[in-house]
Amino acid sequence: MEPFHYRDGQLYCEEIPAAELADRFGTPLYVYSQSSFLGTLKALQSAYAEVAPLVCYSVKANSNLGILKVMAAHGSGFDVVSAGELHRVQVAGGDPGKTVFAGVGKTDEEIKAGLEAGVLMFNVESEAELDAIARVAASIGKVAPIALRVNPDVDPKTHRYISTGKKESKFGMDIERALRVAASSVAISSIRMIGMHMHIGSQITTTEPYAGAVAKGVDLIAQLREMGHPIAWYNMGGGYGINYKGHEARPVEEFARVIAPAVKAAGCRLAIEPGRVIAGNAGILLSRVLYTKQSGDKRFLIQDAAMNDLIRPALYESYHRIWPAVLPPGVSPPPDDADVQAPECEPWDVVGPVCESGDFLARDRHLPRLDRGALIATFSAGAYGMVMASNYNTRPRAAEVLVDGTDARLVRRRETFDDLLRPEIF
Ligand SMILES: *Cc1c(COP(=O)(O)O)cnc(C)c1O
Repeated sequence: MEPFHYRDGQLYCEEIPAAELADRFGTPLYVYSQSSFLGTLKALQSAYAEVAPLVCYSVKANSNLGILKVMAAHGSGFDVVSAGELHRVQVAGGDPGKTVFAGVGKTDEEIKAGLEAGVLMFNVESEAELDAIARVAASIGKVAPIALRVNPDVDPKTHRYISTGKKESKFGMDIERALRVAASSVAISSIRMIGMHMHIGSQITTTEPYAGAVAKGVDLIAQLREMGHPIAWYNMGGGYGINYKGHEARPVEEFARVIAPAVKAAGCRLAIEPGRVIAGNAGILLSRVLYTKQSGDKRFLIQDAAMNDLIRPALYESYHRIWPAVLPPGVSPPPDDADVQAPECEPWDVVGPVCESGDFLARDRHLPRLDRGALIATFSAGAYGMVMASNYNTRPRAAEVLVDGTDARLVRRRETFDDLLRPEIF
């Protein structure tokens, strides 16, 4: 069964009505389905079984400790991009030995933290970073396991802000440079190149960009080994797209059919760093209508979640499906395909209380008429939602609830004004 579904006019998360959660924990409220997180983890582990995959859940997609703890308990590894995320993984009981450390701007302190924790490998984004890792490792008598992050120069055909595998990206290095860096690092005794890493972008809905990338990767691994690097891991990064509107993304099995054979041919174990595909459709944001307002022929639905709670529409022009969580009389569940217009709907801008014109969750969205107090759900909000939330306008950040069957667990309480003011000195 879908983790979020309508039953008798009510939206449910697993076995609990969303309305019950909103009454109990207030709004705005992030609601996550545990079975959805774990179901996708399992689907990935079995789709790639032939290449002994290590699924390194990308912590930046949703870094709540309650979620990391559950993922760790079910065998997940982690992909971190900062010492802060590494700290979260350790606090949640994750295994640093199953954790890869990425990011273009690692400081010496972060490198040291990664080495001391014993991360599986560092994804190295530049020659200068490789030098820094080698120096820090030598200074504390360690050998740093690394993978070069390589840009295969494929176009993932996604939003330009989340495309990373093209030549002109700030991430990684092109193949020629990677070969030069690899050749000159053979003799560095404080690093050991055990992997090769690619991450080509995010919300990639077709398999072609991966097919192009792995073809280049297999060839590159052969060359790295010829130089004497003991490459054992092919890290294919993340980026697997999800359905925001309908059925636009290919299922995980189809990506696996393209990636796994190439990794097998290269004689490597696979690491992947999925974030969105695990967390995205495992979460929704619940909010309540405050006011409706019309100016000219524009209609505004003002509700209590804002850009500080979910910035993706403002930041990436991204689309989130929105629908009442308690269906008004005569209103059906949302159409399966978001481009299909439901009957008796009018276009609304769904906006929040923040003082910015960019504060919207949707524009010209066809919705049924909703009154003050109506509960609405913004779908596909589990990834890059709460992690990007801010306190802009001195708004306390939302609470987060993790649902498991009939059980709802508060995994982050709503912030108080005290929480917001505490670090300030006056
Ligand atoms: C962001 C990121 C990911 C996760 O991307 P998704 O699109 O959420 O799967 C994985 N690896 C790296 C290096 C990243 O920067």
